[in-house]
Amino acid sequence: MRVLLLNPPGREVYIRDYFCSKTTKSNYLFHPVDLLALSGTLSTRHDVEVLDCIAERLSPEEARARIDAAEPSVIVSLVGSVSWDEDRSFLSEEHRRGRRIMVIGDVLHEAAGQRMKEEPWIEAALDDFTNEDVLHLIDGSHEHIERATWRTGSGEIVSREIKAGGSSFRLPRPRHELFPEEGYHFSFARIPRFATLLTDYGCPYPCTFCVIGTLGFRTRPTEDVIEEVDRLRASGVTELFVMDQTFGIQRERAFALCEAFAERGNLSWTAFTRPDHADREMLQAMKSGGCHTVIMGVESASDELLEVYRKGYKASGVAAAFSRAEECGLRTVGTFVIGLPEDTPQTLEQTLELAKGLRLDFMSVNMAVPRFGTDFRSRTVAAGLTNDDDLVMDQGGAYAFFENEALDREAMLAFKKRMVRSFYLRPSYLWRRLRAVDSWSELRGQVREGLALLSRNL
Ligand code: SF4
Repeated sequence: MRVLLLNPPGREVYIRDYFCSKTTKSNYLFHPVDLLALSGTLSTRHDVEVLDCIAERLSPEEARARIDAAEPSVIVSLVGSVSWDEDRSFLSEEHRRGRRIMVIGDVLHEAAGQRMKEEPWIEAALDDFTNEDVLHLIDGSHEHIERATWRTGSGEIVSREIKAGGSSFRLPRPRHELFPEEGYHFSFARIPRFATLLTDYGCPYPCTFCVIGTLGFRTRPTEDVIEEVDRLRASGVTELFVMDQTFGIQRERAFALCEAFAERGNLSWTAFTRPDHADREMLQAMKSGGCHTVIMGVESASDELLEVYRKGYKASGVAAAFSRAEECGLRTVGTFVIGLPEDTPQTLEQTLELAKGLRLDFMSVNMAVPRFGTDFRSRTVAAGLTNDDDLVMDQGGAYAFFENEALDREAMLAFKKRMVRSFYLRPSYLWRRLRAVDSWSELRGQVREGLALLSRNL
């Protein structure tokens, strides 16, 4: 069967993957990891094509022409709360034109049955991109489905959620070659052409605002990962965005991966980790394996807020981890979340001061949103801060979702913009950045990302 993996068109550069969605904060766009994983699974039985309308910046009309040319029987499409109205409009029309439409995305990660009642064009909603559910949904072998919602022949909507067994999973090799070569940008890449790599799925930590912690945690066999990396190297790709949400959760496995990467000799990569996993031994192993940049969650300077959101560490531990990373020769990215219902002008100012004091190479600020399926969403619904039918939101920071007695939405958004400007426009920071750049292409990339970031935060 011809199956099209689709990232639908959008008015903005949307990032929809891994049950999150947002507008890009600068200009970056990486390969949607859900579609990458599904490309491997689907290719074992079907003729698969990928159409990433965001990477190719296709208009809805251009996208329809490309879909017509591909003649798929089934479209498996990303959807996102950030673009839900556009996605519904585009995909319902494709359904009217005779395509079977299956979807995956944050907006159907919770109450998928209810959403499908409202949206008759959806045949099925996937809730895991690392298993074989997509194959069972396409061929109608519903008895094997583990986690999905689908419409039966008689129109009944059925949901199933069987907890994943075991601690590992295998993924047929993701078909990187099906994705466009142009159109993806990664702010931290040392080499413009890069690939997105997933060596595990989910996260065992319970941070209450994060959807990834609701997905369980499983790992891929290291041999499978290395085989994928070697295929990428053979095609000329040596720059990787390792999309594991916390690299190093299983220490011995992480050391084995770093060692294998080091043996390859020419890999260069970025990874997320947590401050409490970033000890010197781990950071040195990552550096030896070719890692040049680590991204760690700071979130807030307030230990009280870190505790409320069950981060499992304090701000002082975060500062120590960033110092260790710098000492090991790694560039650092700190991610922050602002606009929480408990934020006050004081917590926000403290957070800004912390960001400036950490000697970060880059800072990434997210606006708090009630992600589907999280404890945070349930809590804010119960408190009347979120409605069950609030489906549209953007963590990328185009607007603020929450307000409280101390700060309305405008003030939250204004603070976020000020935070970005005061961090990035410090002369000492700009000088340090300039000195750290080691090629013209890296300089071009950073200027492009920097200007795009500032234009969104004026
Ligand atoms: S450690 Fe990171 S990925 Fe894991 S639950 Fe917390 S915020 Fe999410």
